[in-house]
Amino acid sequence: MPSHHDLVFDNGFARLPDSFFSRVQATPVPDPTLVCHSPDALALLGLDADALHHPELIEVLAGNRVLPGMEPVAALYAGHQFGHFVPQLGDGRAMLLGETKGWEMQIKGGGRTPYSRGGDGRAVLRSSIREFLCSEAMHALGIPTTRALALVGSPLPVYREDEETAALVTRLAPSFVRFGSFEVFFYRNQTEPIRILADYVIRRYYPQFAGLADPYPVLLHEVAKRTAELMADWQAVGFAHGVMNTDNMSILGLTLDYGPFGFLDAFDPGFVCNHSDTHGRYAFDQQPDVGAWNVTKLAQALVPLISVDAASAAIQDYPQIFSRAYVARMAAKLGLTTGSDTLSLLLDLLKLLAANHVDYTIFFRRLCDFDSTPGATNAAVRDLFLDRDAYDFWALRYAGALRDAGVPDAERRLAMRAVNPRYILRNHLAETAIRRAADERDYSEVARLHALLARPYDDQPEFAAYATEPPDWARRIEVSCSS
Ligand code: AMP
Ligand code: MG
Repeated sequence: MPSHHDLVFDNGFARLPDSFFSRVQATPVPDPTLVCHSPDALALLGLDADALHHPELIEVLAGNRVLPGMEPVAALYAGHQFGHFVPQLGDGRAMLLGETKGWEMQIKGGGRTPYSRGGDGRAVLRSSIREFLCSEAMHALGIPTTRALALVGSPLPVYREDEETAALVTRLAPSFVRFGSFEVFFYRNQTEPIRILADYVIRRYYPQFAGLADPYPVLLHEVAKRTAELMADWQAVGFAHGVMNTDNMSILGLTLDYGPFGFLDAFDPGFVCNHSDTHGRYAFDQQPDVGAWNVTKLAQALVPLISVDAASAAIQDYPQIFSRAYVARMAAKLGLTTGSDTLSLLLDLLKLLAANHVDYTIFFRRLCDFDSTPGATNAAVRDLFLDRDAYDFWALRYAGALRDAGVPDAERRLAMRAVNPRYILRNHLAETAIRRAADERDYSEVARLHALLARPYDDQPEFAAYATEPPDWARRIEVSCSS
């Protein structure tokens, strides 16, 4: 069986000029133990779970030792946080260890770095479980994201509102470069590092643009497009990120930095998942616009390489790209093709879902079984609504649209089930797994949730209890930036 000894490590990012990062050493943690792992993510490196039986690898994932070829660095970046520019941020607790097989390996929670500011450089078990589970769940949903290889815990106390314990998530991504990685040099009036970083990103991640006479506007357009499409993915599945600062925006269009995220339960366009976001800047329905705003900040940071006109031209079709992608995804969730009738059905439906506080995920999953025959009652869907008359009126129009489309119900049902997940990482599910892990050192619920969410579109009837509306106590869960 392959082990970590078979991996050849390199660190391309660490060969950029020194101004892009600081070389760091993680601060060791006592008694690291494996909490959970992702077989799918391990497979990306050609490993399986056996590799994690090797105590040396656990020590590496805990930041207690490095393997040959690894060169741990903390990246420098800046960022617009809640609308305000912060000129100097950086990996305050994440450390890039190295890369292998096209994946950069990063540990999050390895202790202080030159960018930790007032922070302790640590991550607590609670938030690490959330990041581990959500990264892998998003991937299984088909949404671009950084991955999570494994999670190790340590008895080391970490102080937040209460005393908690330390953990480290191992993240994988082709690159962790953020919009803020460019912004930091723009605000320092340094053009050369912006060019070096843009060239590095193009050479490694967008090689199709490398031969162009002026690749930078094309790069910007591609990042804008990926960002718009990512926003469409988030909206379609009901995911709220919670902290869409430009330092959390990936240059590859990946979902990056899982903190106080949340999935919609009852449909509420103004849903704010982050308890610290008092003004609702990052509310669910604001995400597409915030994505656009963040893209303008990236465009601005690239202006030293391209003209202002070229930069605005490169990002001007973001709204159309988003709308097209969003409507396509929502039409598929309805089992229809795009068109003006579909759009009006969709907009009316979203109003109905909001007014009736209907669970977003349950609604669409039940809708897969909708019987379009005239007179069919479709009680399972209808029962979700308080205002039955309003629902009946909508359902009549929907049934008509389905019959006009002419796809047999059985065929449509299969297509709809492939885009309407039965299982999402609801807050209360994560919370139950976290409590058991933190209070009893019992990690079985984390593993169960991970396995369940690896197949979100499958029925998995033995897990039906994980597909229901949240219990009443879930309303008291508060997630914030402190993690
Ligand atoms: P976030 O909102 O989690 O993306 O974090 C914003 C910035 O704060 C990033 O530069 C993080 O590296 C840094 N940061 C967050 N938590 C800590 C911590 N506990 N110790 C040091 N830096 C942190
Ligand atoms: Mg961050």
